[in-house]
Amino acid sequence: MSVEQAPVQRADFDQVMVPNYAPAAFIPVRGAGSRVWDQAGRELIDFSGGIAVNVLGHAHPALVGALTEQANKLWHVSNVFTNEPTLRLAKKLVDATFADRVFFCNSGAEANEAAFKLARRVAHDKFGPEKYEIVSAINSFHGRTLFTVSVGGQPKYSDGFGPKITGIRHVPYNDLEALKEAVSDKTCAVVLEPVQGEGGVVPADLAYLQGARALCDQFNALLVFDEVQSGMGRSGELYSYMNYGVTPDILSSAKSLGGGFPIGAMLTTDALAKHFAVGVHGTTYGGNPLACAVAEAVLDVINTPEVRAGVKARHQRFKTRLEQIGQRYGVFTEVRGLGLLIGCPLTDAWKGRAKDFFNAAEQHDLMILQAGPDVVRFAPSLVIDEADIDEGLDRFERAVAHLTQA
Ligand SMILES: *Cc1c(COP(=O)(O)O)cnc(C)c1O
Repeated sequence: MSVEQAPVQRADFDQVMVPNYAPAAFIPVRGAGSRVWDQAGRELIDFSGGIAVNVLGHAHPALVGALTEQANKLWHVSNVFTNEPTLRLAKKLVDATFADRVFFCNSGAEANEAAFKLARRVAHDKFGPEKYEIVSAINSFHGRTLFTVSVGGQPKYSDGFGPKITGIRHVPYNDLEALKEAVSDKTCAVVLEPVQGEGGVVPADLAYLQGARALCDQFNALLVFDEVQSGMGRSGELYSYMNYGVTPDILSSAKSLGGGFPIGAMLTTDALAKHFAVGVHGTTYGGNPLACAVAEAVLDVINTPEVRAGVKARHQRFKTRLEQIGQRYGVFTEVRGLGLLIGCPLTDAWKGRAKDFFNAAEQHDLMILQAGPDVVRFAPSLVIDEADIDEGLDRFERAVAHLTQA
């Protein structure tokens, strides 16, 4: 028996929701692959992927299967008990990466919170209370808890909440000399996104990451890679550090890890993990069987040579066409990013107007993203059909044509 549900509409958002978001004017109700339908039955193509989350599109059969199978078995037991999906997923992540150990949580911010706490704990245990400084990048984004906004390099997210977490230094991204000046014996960790996502889709230079690794080794600091946005196949490798051949000590993962089901993970080595002894850190939902069953299915599907090669091929398809559009309408300075995390910085004439591109795309039945006010961002499903890419880019071109003629 189904219970009668009262109809809701977009206007209700402004009545009952905390006004910290400004969602689009339509309400999506259903998705399949890279297509989404709204309440009125309008069909949109999805190049936003729920902000780099829906790594296999909407309602992928393998994920629906894993979720419903687990839903009929066991939902939650807490960490007073362990469970099979947790252990299976952890083993697969360990097998596929540098890591020996995994800590599960529910979001990217929590994965980073665990990473930063672990880095400080290790330094405290091994070197004493004076070694606590964290060096991170200007314009970086690491989540919205107080610790993660403090480490993040965007004051608009950390100002106005009282005292911040102290002991954090921010340096310009991709500037090895600035990093060298900031790192010292007091540094416990250097925190970097191998591709800055929210900060405008800016990939790190190889020499920068190599230099960061060497500095960390020299000063007994840990290298932390925030791969919440760049990880889980999005770069064309399972984690983007694999494109660079620079290995971190701690890695945070979330977003695409759950393919749309909330989960986060912190990956690290045996030697570091032991500093999180019983009782030192935890979370009720971490390692939830439903989340881990879905993430295991995500990993099984995406971590194959075919999918990884497919991401690189799709990158090229997007890039070629976006460069044409950028030139034809004079809107983009370049098309950058790795795999299916693509950013198009706006030319001076269009700077500050990424939201207008978002709105124009929506009016042409296409969902895209911005990365700040100056960059148009695309983060579609890694298995999006070529036909959907082409149709979506046709819609995007019509949107840009409309915008630039207006
Ligand atoms: C989205 C994001 C986060 C925060 O993840 P949440 O799940 O929103 O807490 C952290 N780091 C990076 C690089 C991100 O893109």
